[in-house]
Amino acid sequence: MAPSKRQSRRGPASQRGPEGPILKTAGEIDAMAAAGELLATCHHVLAGEVAAGVATGALDEVAEQFLRDRGGVPAFKGYQGYPATITTSINGQVVHAIPSEVALRDGDIVSIDAGVVLDGWVADMARTHPVGEVSDLAQRLMEATEASLYRGIDAARAGGRLGDIGHAVQTEVENAGFSVVKSLVGHGVGRSMHEAPQVPNFGRAGSGVRLSAGTVIAVEPMVNAGGHEVELGSDGWTVSSADGSLSAHFEHTVAITANGPRILTVAGALTPPARDGPARPPGAR
Ligand code: MG
Repeated sequence: MAPSKRQSRRGPASQRGPEGPILKTAGEIDAMAAAGELLATCHHVLAGEVAAGVATGALDEVAEQFLRDRGGVPAFKGYQGYPATITTSINGQVVHAIPSEVALRDGDIVSIDAGVVLDGWVADMARTHPVGEVSDLAQRLMEATEASLYRGIDAARAGGRLGDIGHAVQTEVENAGFSVVKSLVGHGVGRSMHEAPQVPNFGRAGSGVRLSAGTVIAVEPMVNAGGHEVELGSDGWTVSSADGSLSAHFEHTVAITANGPRILTVAGALTPPARDGPARPPGAR
């Protein structure tokens, strides 16, 4: 889940400087990786459920059951009154759309964002899925957005600057001919879903605060096929592209370590076999 750039949510003042992140120990990062593994595995299960005719509300039920059965607590549910476990944003919806009885249709793209709390630690992850056959534009948008996520993660290095991440994301997206959403941002994550620092998907390399080992952030490019402007829907949650263009969203929770960035939202041994056949690798469609 992405806070708007105007919002500011921080951890306890005793554990941080004025703008600094709450640094995590190696043991704490391992604990966050356990939360991340559970969440990534849930996403793997959801990927197998996405299909034309499936209501987004049914996906929400699958996610909540999966997480709770394994000791997780949905992080979004109840957050500032949000009513569901996942967000399901279709086509021109960017983020935070509430699951409903509306069924997915062939040719849609759906961005699923979810968070979990496990043993007091939060993980946050999103990915956009095609529903059946999608347009060439939709396919290129999803690929560029996911590629920009990994560019951003690769730039998240101790000794570097926060602006390196946004610059890497923005460059990848704009080279593909698309626009990064600017009014919503990534964020620090830990015992709270939203900690300092905010992580914009745009910026100047070499600018911003210096990145330290022990910082854990959610890197989450939100990318529109058209312009970067977005608008908030009448439900107070759904953010859509202002021009109605398609939008995609990919997110990982990432720890900055002395050995480089470590993606914490990775499905692992928990990965169940696909329902209808042999086990597939995480992320396979
Ligand atoms: Mg997030």
